[in-house]
Amino acid sequence: CMSKLPNTGTTIFSVMSALAAEHKAINLSQGFPDYDCSDELKALVNEAMQLGHNQYAPMPGLLPLREAIAGKIKDLYQQHINPDTEITITPGGTYAIFTAIAAFIHPGDEVIIFEPAYDSYIPNVLVNGGKPVLIPLSFPDYHISWDEVRSKITPRTRMIIVNTPHNPTGSTLREEDMAELEKLVTEHNLLVLSDEVYEHLVFDGARHESALRYPGIYRNSFVVFSFGKVFHNTGWKMGYCIAPEHLTKEYRKVHQYLCFSVNTPMQYGLAKFLETPAHYLELPAFYQQKRDYFLELMKNSRFTPLASQGSYFQLMRYDRISNEGDKDFAIRLTKDSGVAAIPVSAFYQNGKDDHVIRFCFAKKETTLEAAALKLTKI
Ligand code: GLN
Repeated sequence: CMSKLPNTGTTIFSVMSALAAEHKAINLSQGFPDYDCSDELKALVNEAMQLGHNQYAPMPGLLPLREAIAGKIKDLYQQHINPDTEITITPGGTYAIFTAIAAFIHPGDEVIIFEPAYDSYIPNVLVNGGKPVLIPLSFPDYHISWDEVRSKITPRTRMIIVNTPHNPTGSTLREEDMAELEKLVTEHNLLVLSDEVYEHLVFDGARHESALRYPGIYRNSFVVFSFGKVFHNTGWKMGYCIAPEHLTKEYRKVHQYLCFSVNTPMQYGLAKFLETPAHYLELPAFYQQKRDYFLELMKNSRFTPLASQGSYFQLMRYDRISNEGDKDFAIRLTKDSGVAAIPVSAFYQNGKDDHVIRFCFAKKETTLEAAALKLTKI
């Protein structure tokens, strides 16, 4: 077979968004906001274009943007990150993840991945010749069993991928998890890929446990962020990867021949936008309110919510409604009830099905109301 990914189909996000469009359903499946990003941010990008900032940006990213990111990290996580040597601007978080894997995974290297897993991790590892080592998160609270992680470590283990706040479940890593991770990283000299694209979407007063806070973890880490996820412009495909100098050096060897550099006017716009800390400090409350509103609206439904501590996703069990598999249920929900969601089994290689679907609540109140109206009738 010529395929490098014989068992990989079309990503569930494309499948469900297309089905939602076909049936004119309210699309709470693929994760993106149905409201626009800030007018101020758009004006800043526009201004950069008008000023003629329309040619290649430097390969690692525009320096003012990297400096603004370093400033934010200093404020939020009290760590000094060198904008010259530790920050690379990327066309989105997914790209940033691929690049880290491509730069460091050799054929046969084992990569620990927790399931349910964001759907790009496993194909990214496979296409680079790596071997995914899959570990299920506990159900229904989706925590990591560190004993199990330890039992899966071999001399070939090279990387562990963590994701907090977690897609699709909305679980978050806690301080105890970070302590366990730090121990493992130190004992086995593992690389860490920390997917933190929902960085600012952490609820109930909890703090975001970034790998950047822990020097013992960070020294072996790629920490991936996304502007699209937090500033409501997923279509811009803007993100960044933070890694210590010796890792960033290798990372940029791949990056420079993958996309070379990222679009210039948006980098100027984002650099200025980050000068106002309120633009990111307001995000936890903004999204918590949406989560709480959605939960309130769904109280009268027969869906049972699981805990969402972060991200813009809410998992719901539907066992009081149906005993169908989650894919069948999600398709029927889209066609017959007019609301699209993501079946969580899509994030397991073996299709483990706990009868749970994922709703994205990054939506206008009117959208959440219209969706809840349909969902409470089932
Ligand atoms: N991260 C988004 C989600 O989980 C989708 C991204 C994509 O469609 N590739 O829904």
